[in-house]
Amino acid sequence: MHELSIVSSIVDSVTQTLEAYPGARVKEVRLRIGALASVVEDSLQFCYGIATDGTPLEGSKLVVKILPVTMHCDSCASDVEIASLQSFRCPRCDAPVSDLRQGRELEIESIEIDEVEEKV
Ligand SMILES: [Zn+2]
Repeated sequence: MHELSIVSSIVDSVTQTLEAYPGARVKEVRLRIGALASVVEDSLQFCYGIATDGTPLEGSKLVVKILPVTMHCDSCASDVEIASLQSFRCPRCDAPVSDLRQGRELEIESIEIDEVEEKV
């Protein structure tokens, strides 16, 4: 499953980050995913529950932000948001656009962790 491998790499990456914070537990992981990354959020959430089991991420919340597809339109000389993924045309002037500026992202935006109590 596509989503499971995505989630596994997220868990790996977060676990690595956590090495700097011994004993910390993750409360929330925020992702930015482009609309073209063909990720199904329901599957992602489902896989997250499985993949985080027994890790410092267990019980944490996965927040997914879907980024719209934007392309650069030469005619308008600006970045425009593409509403339909069926036809890559500028919504302003209807010119065909192919210069992708956003839409394939798949990255961790932020990680929220519980403060670790310092032992004195
Ligand atoms: Zn245009």
